[in-house]
Amino acid sequence: MVKAIVGANWGDEGKGKITDTLAKESDIIVRFQGGANAGHTIVNDYGKFALHTLPSGVFYEHTTNVIGNGVALDIPKLFSEMEDLVAKGVPKPKIIVSNRAQIVMPYHVLFDTYEEARLAGKSFGSTKSGIAPFYSDKYAKIGFQVSELFDEDALKEKLERVLIQKNVLLEHLYHQPLLNAEELFATLMEYKSMVEPYVCDTSAYLYQAIQDGKNILLEGQLGSLKDPDHGIYPMVTSSSTLAGYGAIGAGIPPYEIQKVITVCKAYSSAVGAGAFVSEIFGAEAEELRNRGGDGGEYGATTGRPRRMGWFDCVASRYGCRIQGTTDVAFTVLDVLGYLDEIPVCVGYEIDGKVTTDFPTTTLLERAKPVLETLPGWKTDIRGIRTYEELPENCRHYIEFVERHIGFPITMISNGPGRDDIIMRG
Ligand code: GDP
Repeated sequence: MVKAIVGANWGDEGKGKITDTLAKESDIIVRFQGGANAGHTIVNDYGKFALHTLPSGVFYEHTTNVIGNGVALDIPKLFSEMEDLVAKGVPKPKIIVSNRAQIVMPYHVLFDTYEEARLAGKSFGSTKSGIAPFYSDKYAKIGFQVSELFDEDALKEKLERVLIQKNVLLEHLYHQPLLNAEELFATLMEYKSMVEPYVCDTSAYLYQAIQDGKNILLEGQLGSLKDPDHGIYPMVTSSSTLAGYGAIGAGIPPYEIQKVITVCKAYSSAVGAGAFVSEIFGAEAEELRNRGGDGGEYGATTGRPRRMGWFDCVASRYGCRIQGTTDVAFTVLDVLGYLDEIPVCVGYEIDGKVTTDFPTTTLLERAKPVLETLPGWKTDIRGIRTYEELPENCRHYIEFVERHIGFPITMISNGPGRDDIIMRG
C-alpha cells in the first residue's frame, strides 16, 4: 500500500513528525520533490533533528529511504546530514538515490543568492538553497542527472556548453566571478564518489516493492499553497507539492497511491513573502510564535521567525481538496491550550463579498479574513491518547474545523514526539 503524507497549507505542518510516526509500520519512505530548502523537525529517542534532504524514515533500522527522481539533490548536504545522524548515535540509515534525480550544482546556490540580492525588496524570500535555479535548469533541459556523472566525456562537454550561458549572466547581469568548467568537473567527480554506492533505478525498485506488498510512504515537502500550479503563484516553490506529483517524483503508477494523508496545522504559519489572509501581528503573533511547534515557530533551515495566523478554513479546505485528501492529520493542537478564545478564519471578504472558495493570487491579495471565535480549553492536552479524553471545547474545535474543511480528521497530534498521536475514527 502506498500512502502520501503531504501538507495542506504553507509548509511546516508537522509532516516530518507524522512520517516518523507512520514509518514504524512502513518499509520504504520516499522523498519525491523539493530539496534542502525546507526542513522537517523530528523529535525521537535519539534527540531532535532537522532533516532537509533525508526522508523522515531514517530513524528506523527496518526502513529503506529513497531519494526519488523528483528531488533537487544536494549531494554534500545529503552526506553531511547522514554523518550528523550517525554522530548522534542513529544507526546508519539505508538510503538509495535515483539515477534520474538531478543534482543541485554549486552555481544554483550562487544564482539563487545573486538573484534575491538583485530583486532586493521584491525578492521571494528564498532560502537560497538553489531550488529555483535548479528547477529552471531542469525544465530548460540543462540540468544534470545523477546518471550523467558516470559518462565523463559527455559530462565535460555538457558542462562547457552550459557554462557559456551561465557566465554571460554572471558577467553582465550579476557582475560576479565567472565559473570554470575544470573546477566544476572536479567537484562533480567528488560528488560521484560520494553518491555512487547508493545510486540505482529507484522507480524499478519501488515497482517491485509494490508487487511484493510493501508499505510505502511518499513524503511531501512544503504544502498545497506552495504548489507552482495550485498555490499562491508566484510566491510558491519550484516543484509540485501535491500527492499527485508523488507518482511522478517517485516513478510509480498514480493509481497505487491509495491514501493521501494531508497534514493540517491547528493554526497557521508561513515563511517567505505572499498573501496570508489570516495573519496576525504584534504581541498576539509573538506569543503564538514562541509557544508554537516545538520550541517556537522558527524556520528549520534558516532560523527565520515564521509569520503567524489563525487557522484558515478557506485555505485548508482548498489545500485538502487539491491534495486529493483521504485523511487529515491535525497537528500541534496542544499549542492552542493557552488561549481563552480561539479565532478561526471561516471566509474571505473580497470586494465586499464573502466567499469560502480559495481565489487566485490577484484576488487573494485583496481578501480580508472573516473570523469566528471558539472557546478555548485552557489545559495542557499533551499525553492524552484517546479522543474521548480530550476536553469538550477541544473536541468542539476539531469538529468545527472538520466540518469547514470537509475532510475527515483521523489523526490528532498533541505533541512533537512520535507517540503524541490520537487515532480517531
Ligand atoms: P514539516 O516540515 O511539515 O515536517 O514541519 P516542521 O518540522 O517544519 O514544523 C513542525 C514543528 O512542529 C516541529 O518543530 C515539530 O517538532 C513540531 N510538532 C509537530 N507536531 C507537533 C505537535 O503536535 N505539537 C507540538 N507542540 N509540536 C509539534
